[in-house]
Amino acid sequence: MLNIVLFGPPGSGKGTQSEKLIAKYKLVHLSTGDLLRSEIAAMTDLGIKAKAIMDRGELVSDDIVIGMIRNKISANIDSRGFIFDGFPRTVAQAGALDEVLAEKGKEISLMVTLEVPDDEVITRLLKRGEQTGRADDNVSVIENRLNVYICQTEPVIGYYKEKKKYHPINGIGSVDEIFARIEEEIKKVN
Ligand code: ADP
Repeated sequence: MLNIVLFGPPGSGKGTQSEKLIAKYKLVHLSTGDLLRSEIAAMTDLGIKAKAIMDRGELVSDDIVIGMIRNKISANIDSRGFIFDGFPRTVAQAGALDEVLAEKGKEISLMVTLEVPDDEVITRLLKRGEQTGRADDNVSVIENRLNVYICQTEPVIGYYKEKKKYHPINGIGSVDEIFARIEEEIKKVN
């Protein structure tokens, strides 16, 4: 299996690059943000609870997202691999992901981090907010999401560094240029 953690701040291009990775490597896309937005759209209890948290730019509880990921992994364990987008977002989630995969005799192949400076992600997210009307793409919530990223999510880098799975790349450039950089990192492990 090729199991990729695609990592980076909000607005770093994880969703865009995920689409290209899925097309080329036939991976199953697991975006916790997308899964949560489907729960909101379906107005489930979980979705109603998650919406208030997401609208503030805070993190939904580890238990909820780990549960969602566990179900999706089990349902697709015979696939060629997974691309984890927006997950893990805390060190606890990273540990839980390894446990779920290990139970099935699988592991993360690599973590690719898209490095994009703050001013660039803010510009991109504001533009996305104008185009799509996504509730959390406005100035004050974006600032909060970046703070949450620095405090709670960036420590996940250390987790994968220790396991020698950390592959940072420059996230500035054209979509194709960045995809080529990701492919180079995949070639190193695959
Ligand atoms: P972005 O990367 O642009 O912030 P996402 O779609 O990945 O967008 O996430 C949107 C929101 O969904 C987050 O701000 C957070 O509230 C919630 N969320 C998504 N994934 C997770 C996760 N793994 N753990 C906790 N909360 C999450």
